[in-house]
Amino acid sequence: MRDMGWITADGLLLTGTNLLLLALLAWALLGALLYLRLTRSRNRIRNHLSAAVTQLDKLRGRDPLTGLITRPEFELALEEATLECDHTGVPLALLYLGLDDFRHINELHGHREGDTLLVQVARRLTSVVGSGPVVCRVAGDEFALQAPGDAVDAAHTAERIQAALQQPFELAGTKLRVSASLGIAMYPEHGSRPRLLAHAALAMRAVKLAGGASHGHYDPAMGFDQRNQAELVRDLRLAIDRGQLQLYYQPKVDARSLQITAAEALLRWQHPARGMVSPAVFIPLAERHGLIGALGNWVIAEACRQAGQWREQGLRMRVAVNLSGLQLRQDDLVQCIEAALRQHRIPAERLTCEITESVAMEDTTQTRAAFERLRLAGLHVSIDDFGTGHSSLATLRKLPAAELKIDRAFVTDLASSAEARSIAQAIVQMAHTLDLRVVAEGVETEAQRDILLALECDELQGFLFARPMPAQALALWASDDRSESSRSQPSVFRASLFEPTAPAPMIDARPGTQGPGF
Ligand code: C2E
Ligand code: CA
Ligand code: CA
Repeated sequence: MRDMGWITADGLLLTGTNLLLLALLAWALLGALLYLRLTRSRNRIRNHLSAAVTQLDKLRGRDPLTGLITRPEFELALEEATLECDHTGVPLALLYLGLDDFRHINELHGHREGDTLLVQVARRLTSVVGSGPVVCRVAGDEFALQAPGDAVDAAHTAERIQAALQQPFELAGTKLRVSASLGIAMYPEHGSRPRLLAHAALAMRAVKLAGGASHGHYDPAMGFDQRNQAELVRDLRLAIDRGQLQLYYQPKVDARSLQITAAEALLRWQHPARGMVSPAVFIPLAERHGLIGALGNWVIAEACRQAGQWREQGLRMRVAVNLSGLQLRQDDLVQCIEAALRQHRIPAERLTCEITESVAMEDTTQTRAAFERLRLAGLHVSIDDFGTGHSSLATLRKLPAAELKIDRAFVTDLASSAEARSIAQAIVQMAHTLDLRVVAEGVETEAQRDILLALECDELQGFLFARPMPAQALALWASDDRSESSRSQPSVFRASLFEPTAPAPMIDARPGTQGPGF
């Protein structure tokens, strides 16, 4: 049966069914509108509420994020504590804490997760020093704490704080490790109450400059160091253009045959006035001041150029470069590596990218994507400083790594510590299960070498065999042009360097000498 209806001006037939549908549609629209208005006003109320809570917290002298007391409240408490100290003669320590790499955590996980981390850090700090007016968030990721006692007590407090922060934090479903730098200023030794906070902060920045994850006491020379640092950054900006950078190379040798398998490029900066500046000083500076991209690209280009030159001399070995975590986040990193490899006709698997364990284990979308690009490019990936971070076997299995480098700390302690031996052994076994080669770095003594051989470590690197040295020195040292003094040394290096990559003959492991490096 046909539905009766009217024709509208637009020619639409308004039947009973259509009318019903239109009414339903209007109802739904009205509902949606109402819902939107409700949600909006609910959000408005929520925002007002959180603004009011923030305001209330401020009035109560509390940091709205962490619930810790605010800086003015902390300074009041500090004033009282110093008066007490004047009265009793018991010294007082002011500890200034800055999280290492917090900016990077914020960039990787977002500000909301960054805030969550700060709240958790605040909780751990109060678990160490108590929840009284003794700890506050000074700004961003920086906290100040006060503790009665002398400098030794303060160092113990700093160690307890580091230990508390070492436990992993839960962030967005992943486990995250953080470290902190702590500066300590003592009252009355290191200045009057108003200067104390600034002095402890200065000490904290000095610790960060030296690599972080530690603590240090204020020293009056530190003010000078800060100015020094600003000058160093300014000079570093010019260092590439002025040709002050150079790559030194340190060989990795096969543990049994002593054949050189690779040369690791280590950056050196010849400063016109200061002399040789250590990469341990200027790489963190470059990372902090946005210079690591340019520096890293220079290293890649130079290492590939050198590898090309060695290839022409018939020298067949891998060249390794160190990649900073920030470089991994550089979108065009692999493109830059591939361009350098193409230019010097180096096969991708001949270049090793050394990436520290802590960076490799971040397991974020960005690092996963970077590793995938390295894998697709066919590059040889090595996990550096292994054993210091907190690896998950699951993440390790997913990485396109071909090599693990046991951190120097374990190698140093091999002869004296059963624990270091067990760790080294566990690393070798795990690596071999995953089909990875194991390199031990920092081998300085024959005793260490013998233990590593017994543990079936594949490759060795360290002063026992050779120090880092300029490219030319490495080639000279390995050739017949070596100096008289080195001529007496075993010729295994020369033979292995200049021969094609045929399997090396098995010979007794013999210590080499220190090459001409620094
Ligand atoms: P690393 O990658 O762990 O490099 C090994 C460091 O240990 C080097 O210090 C090397 O000279 C030193 N070493 C090697 N064998 C021994 C030994 O037997 N005993 C002792 N005591 N030390 C040994 P170096 O050259 O001062 O480099 C320090 C760090 O600076 C490197 O640690 C690496 O993290 C960083 N670095 C160096 N060059 C670069 C670079 O081009 N890019 C980046 N991102 N980092 C670099
Ligand atoms: Ca390295
Ligand atoms: Ca290393």
